[in-house]
Amino acid sequence: MGGSEGLHRQVLLPFLLCPPSRSACTQCRPLLAALTLSPGLEELRALESEARERRFPSSELLQRLKNCLSEAEACVSRALGLVSGQEAGPHRVADVQMTLAELRAFLDQMSNLPCAMHQIGDVRGVLEQVEAYQAEVCEALASLPPSPALLQALLERGRQLGVEVPEAQELQQQVEQARWLDEVKRTLAPPARRGTLAVMRGLLLAGASVAPSPAVDKARAELQELLTIAERWEEKAHLCLEARQKHPPATLEAIIYEAENIPVHLPNIQALKEALAKARAWIADVDEIQNGDHYPCLDDLEGLVAVGRDLPVGLEELRQLELQVLTAHSWREKASKTFLKKNSCYTLLEVLCPCADAGSDSTKRSRWMEKELGLYKSDTELLGLSAQDLRDPGSVIVAFKEGEQKEKEGILRLRRANSAKPSPLAALTSAASASSLCVCGQVPAGAGALRCDLCQDWFHGRCVSVPRLLNSLRPSPPSSPLLAWWEWDTKFLCPLCMRSRRPRLETILALLVALQRLPVRLPEGEALQCLTERAISWQGRARQALASEDVSALMGRLTDLRQRLQAEPRSPEPPILLPSAPASDPLREGSGKDMPKAQGLENGDSVTSPEKVAAGEGSGKRDLELLSSLLPQLTGPVLELPEATRAPLEELMLEGDLLEVTLDENHSIWQLLQAGRPPDLQRVCTLLELEKAERHGSRGRGRALERRRRRKK
Ligand SMILES: [Zn+2]
Ligand SMILES: [Zn+2]
Repeated sequence: MGGSEGLHRQVLLPFLLCPPSRSACTQCRPLLAALTLSPGLEELRALESEARERRFPSSELLQRLKNCLSEAEACVSRALGLVSGQEAGPHRVADVQMTLAELRAFLDQMSNLPCAMHQIGDVRGVLEQVEAYQAEVCEALASLPPSPALLQALLERGRQLGVEVPEAQELQQQVEQARWLDEVKRTLAPPARRGTLAVMRGLLLAGASVAPSPAVDKARAELQELLTIAERWEEKAHLCLEARQKHPPATLEAIIYEAENIPVHLPNIQALKEALAKARAWIADVDEIQNGDHYPCLDDLEGLVAVGRDLPVGLEELRQLELQVLTAHSWREKASKTFLKKNSCYTLLEVLCPCADAGSDSTKRSRWMEKELGLYKSDTELLGLSAQDLRDPGSVIVAFKEGEQKEKEGILRLRRANSAKPSPLAALTSAASASSLCVCGQVPAGAGALRCDLCQDWFHGRCVSVPRLLNSLRPSPPSSPLLAWWEWDTKFLCPLCMRSRRPRLETILALLVALQRLPVRLPEGEALQCLTERAISWQGRARQALASEDVSALMGRLTDLRQRLQAEPRSPEPPILLPSAPASDPLREGSGKDMPKAQGLENGDSVTSPEKVAAGEGSGKRDLELLSSLLPQLTGPVLELPEATRAPLEELMLEGDLLEVTLDENHSIWQLLQAGRPPDLQRVCTLLELEKAERHGSRGRGRALERRRRRKK
């Protein structure tokens, strides 16, 4: 620093020689002048350090030097900060911003200092930039409509400048307004960008903090109105969705149509729309099902009713469907009451259909026992038909026919197998060798065991429902004694063979008439029709067989025999059996042979009126003893049945026993076959013993026995 060194001394020496009291002396004057010639910062620093090194006394001039130096240094650092901050770009700290006025004042300050600072050029450059920016901002703010992108860019640039122009606040406001208006526009723009109600509320809330402007005020008002309308429609839709009183599709349609123009996503209106669409599909389904080739299936109707009930739409077809379902149910209930035994382990459909697994004794039995124990799950694949197959009447009929065939083959196999089982009544039979199994799960052994007339298997008499001789012989007319034992009701069918109450044909026909009136199809109905056809066809064959020459001759012989027994003089001993007057049967026409439905028992000695016989345990007990005492007098066979006559009758009876219908022809054939055999005294004894035991109250404990079987309704 050779050159400046010389200058320092030149300037400083006289300056220092002047005592402080004479600061304005003539020697100092040129030096002072030199000082005001704006020396550089470096020169001022050198002067100041020299004064310090040489320990110059404090003087006003020195103080000015010091002040000037520190002010200049502050200015330089501020100017550097301003320039470097601008270079730092968007990362600068917003707090250090100065206003335009401050910048101008700063520049003045720098210009006025007696120190040459080359940074002043930079600061002037900044000022020029800011002024140019300000001009741009003013122009942008004045232009209409404001361009949000331009305003935003200007705002960014202003931040980078590090100097705040007076228009900055307005710029900020306009940017916010533009941004908000843009958001509102995008939210309400059709069709995809539909804001939710929450978004709308948020926009309104945000709009409240945006500086007001005509555009903003207008948008806010519109937004508020839209929100109010949307909320009103939502409320309306909500009421429709929740209402107990459902509205018809037309009403909902009108609401949806009106709400269609609201550019807001309305969840309730949307739900209403979906419900309406479902309701339309439902109505179409109902139309299709009601106008199909067949009556609709109960299952399908129930499904439709369930769906229709869940829809928040008033459907006029629903009530009609519900009514149809209701009538179908009540029909089925009536049919169930007609057919099913109390606590039956079978469904109505199972009872109406042939027992296709009749041959599989173990399956049948285990199913029965599982049901008894409550383990059985209802078999949906009845007759090998799926739930879908059951909807088709054709497949039900085909399966029924196949089931009939399988049932007959099965029972024949079962009879062969069961006939080979040793009788529990035989003296030498031990429990171990017996392969029969009663429904109670135990092996029937010894007295009290009964053999089923159909499947030929053995059962405990106490475990099953058995015929009651005494009841079947009542009421007893006080005349016409008869020892017609073949008319006694001793026929026993086990609960596996006789699955229902076996109603009479006329009862079933009444059910069928009611079924015809149902506008609903149900598999039970088809099964009942098949069963009825099967029964009528069997009845036709039975009547034909009974009317044949040889059989009617045999029947005539039986009638004669009974009349002969009636004509026999009434003696005090032994007691006599009486037939009741034959009941008239509207369905019978072919054979002309009236089979008595009930026979009477009279105790000639002790009983003088039928009422007394019907009442009183004592007389019942006496009657049983009376019957027991009669047994030795029973003789037979009373008819000779040639094999050619018996075999077809036996086959007919087997087929009739498979039918879950009570037919008088079955009874006639059974009596005829009975008459052709010796009386089954063992069966009669067992039945009498069972009845006696029951009268003593020692029978049937712990087991709910089905009441009287085979009683005609
Ligand atoms: Zn048993
Ligand atoms: Zn059986």
